[in-house]
Amino acid sequence: MSEGPDALPVVTKSEAAATDPMAAAHAAPRCGARCRDGHACLGPGMRNGRCRMHGGKSTGARTAAGLERCRSAPRKHGARDAKARAQAKLRGEARATLRELEKMLAGGGD
Ligand SMILES: [Zn+2]
Repeated sequence: MSEGPDALPVVTKSEAAATDPMAAAHAAPRCGARCRDGHACLGPGMRNGRCRMHGGKSTGARTAAGLERCRSAPRKHGARDAKARAQAKLRGEARATLRELEKMLAGGGD
């Protein structure tokens, strides 16, 4: 197969992305979802065909690595564990003592 002078150069998606990072987004098919004002969305479609705004909710982790990361992620922050509660109690008692002392000083100490 010979290329004539009119033949367009064949540029693959990755080649285009190497020269222009937005090339893939510009070349992507449009989303087409119906917008609130009635027209079709012109956003670049992702793998599922819709844009980043109309792609739908996440379906959660699917890969083994993603599921494992999900399982091992901490779900509790420890801000209300026994140690933190004990410290908060101590702070409360200290504040109460301070209030008493300030009251004594203001009242002339009788
Ligand atoms: Zn869209």
